[in-house]
Amino acid sequence: MAKDDTTCSFCGRPRSQVNMLIAGISGHICDSCIGQAQSIVKEELQEKSKLNIEHSLSLLKPAEIKSKLDEFVIGQDDAKKVLSVGVYNHYKRLVYHKDEIKDDVDIEKSNVILVGRTGTGKTLLAKTIAKLLNVPFCIADATVLTEAGYVGEDVESILSRLLQAADYDVEFAERGIVFIDEIDKIARKSDNPSITRDVSGEGVQQALLKLLEGAEVNVPPQGGRKHPEQKMIQIKTKNILFICGGAFDGVEKIIGRRINRQAIGFSSAELERVDDDNLLKYIIPTDLKDFGLIPELIGRFPVLTYLNPLDEKSLRRILTEPKNSLIKQYVKLFELDGIELSFDGKVLDFIVEKAMEFKLGARGLRSICEAILNDAMFNVPSQEDVKEFKVTLSYAKEQFSRSKIANLKVA
Ligand code: ADP
Repeated sequence: MAKDDTTCSFCGRPRSQVNMLIAGISGHICDSCIGQAQSIVKEELQEKSKLNIEHSLSLLKPAEIKSKLDEFVIGQDDAKKVLSVGVYNHYKRLVYHKDEIKDDVDIEKSNVILVGRTGTGKTLLAKTIAKLLNVPFCIADATVLTEAGYVGEDVESILSRLLQAADYDVEFAERGIVFIDEIDKIARKSDNPSITRDVSGEGVQQALLKLLEGAEVNVPPQGGRKHPEQKMIQIKTKNILFICGGAFDGVEKIIGRRINRQAIGFSSAELERVDDDNLLKYIIPTDLKDFGLIPELIGRFPVLTYLNPLDEKSLRRILTEPKNSLIKQYVKLFELDGIELSFDGKVLDFIVEKAMEFKLGARGLRSICEAILNDAMFNVPSQEDVKEFKVTLSYAKEQFSRSKIANLKVA
């Protein structure tokens, strides 16, 4: 009888060493290779569906977005509402676009500008929204951006960061959120007396337009110009949501002047209702133009809203209420060492009072808490008999007065 020299085309084993060989058009596969292939397929499919779930967009209704934001961000109701609608419309367009929106209606995206003092929650709002919707998020600082060819970062580097945040999943990055901070610092100098540096802001604004216009942009995956050999990745910016933040110092004057100019058409009752302490709430796109943003750029940001300065009441709430409030974080940190941390109510008032003095918005709260708790965080973990730590007003005052930040002069 002729010798059967058929082997498995995958592992090479002869028929005598396997249970079964199945014939294909130009080869064979043995039972054990089938088993292995099946588990590889199963694993790959699981991985893929996990990725799909991880990267799937959760589109919430505007009211849901707002109420979720309430869990993390205190106050700022107007900004939350405007932002929730803008973000909902932006992503709705993305989710339903394929089947339900006819091509003759091209819904434009809703890039947002947030105007408000430092430390009032602009970055926090943008970051929280990205988390809620499960989209990648990155922060870019407008002040380090330059026109191509100058020292500094090219605008494309923003997209490199987004790509990194998306784990280099291009499709995922293409529906991410980019937060550009300090957009006011690239205003045209001539229209803006508060800027002392000549950064040729207009050139950067022009460069930014390229990203905002929904073009395909070549992005260096590692960012920057340090790796000239890297292969570029093409990213479509059509569905990326850009949120810009800025303090726009001095814009209140522009708003005030405009309201006075328009006063002729207003009734005196209407004029009386103008809240002079918070003129930001009346901001409109032309104020940004007068501040020094170019009209083309403003035109790419159809949603404009403002954040209120934080008063004592809001700062007090920020300390304790948000889901991951500062006080909750410190309590947790001590708890991990088996220590129960608590604060006298007056300590919280003291922290707020100092934060108001430093005029850093909620940003100041953290440094003040650190100053008060640093000694305790240093000593208590090594004192095994200590099971609780109560921060009293006198302790807080003493620790604070010894800290460096207590000596900071506030302008
Ligand atoms: P901005 O971008 O307006 O300068 P951030 O959003 O970076 O300010 O805020 C700085 C920090 O202050 C945040 O990490 C957050 O903990 C806190 N914070 C600011 N505003 C709020 C707010 N409205 N609600 C809760 N926390 C806030």
